[in-house]
Amino acid sequence: MTFDSPFADLLEANRAYAEAHGTSHFDGIAHAGVAMVTCMDSRIEPLKMIGLNLGDAKILRNPGGRVTDATLVALVLSVSLLNVKRILLVQHTRCAMASSTEDQMHASLSKFSGTDTTWMSLGTITDQEKTLRADIHRVTSHPLIPDSVEVGAFIYNVDTGILQPVS
Ligand SMILES: [Zn+2]
Repeated sequence: MTFDSPFADLLEANRAYAEAHGTSHFDGIAHAGVAMVTCMDSRIEPLKMIGLNLGDAKILRNPGGRVTDATLVALVLSVSLLNVKRILLVQHTRCAMASSTEDQMHASLSKFSGTDTTWMSLGTITDQEKTLRADIHRVTSHPLIPDSVEVGAFIYNVDTGILQPVS
């Protein structure tokens, strides 16, 4: 291991992880039949919040927890080949993507980078419940996602830990 690596501390922690990890492995399907699309926010523990463990679910994360084109590809693979039967779309309270407008977010980014960032679409969220309903439609109307797959929308409260269904 090189000690001047910017990742040295993480690699060191990984060696300890690998010692406990052993060499027996299960496959890469979702053993609980669950996929969750959620935000990249570091306050969210996707598996723990619904009582699942390593190997149980497909977790797809991005800013805001949106159903993007890449998310749809992952969901098609998940329901077709990886045992997923239920999909949770999870946004959360106090999400930065839902607390700023596209213009405000660009102002912050442009200030940080010292350059114009408006050429990049950020996908900020104006109305979380409305966005979740639109994202549910994106999933359920996809020709490669069967009707038998259950799709639910939820808002996770980062203060209480409660996952609230959105209808
Ligand atoms: Zn967020």
